[in-house]
Amino acid sequence: MIYIIIAGSAILLFLLVRWHTKVSAYICPKCKHQYSITPFQDFKSPQGPSSKYLQCSKCGRKSWTKSIRLDKK
Ligand SMILES: [Zn+2]
Repeated sequence: MIYIIIAGSAILLFLLVRWHTKVSAYICPKCKHQYSITPFQDFKSPQGPSSKYLQCSKCGRKSWTKSIRLDKK
């Protein structure tokens, strides 16, 4: 029974992270490049209160990057 709960929460966490990456984008404070990240990057990157420590996909510099919400329509 306990394994079902663990597996269930792992799936829920995975879905939450995947949903988060789909609705979020990040703008590099150094070069203003807007990019999105993979669920794996989302999972392994440190998360602050309103920003995330990420490596920019364009200039390759690491910085605390603010996330923006993408409107899905
Ligand atoms: Zn950049």
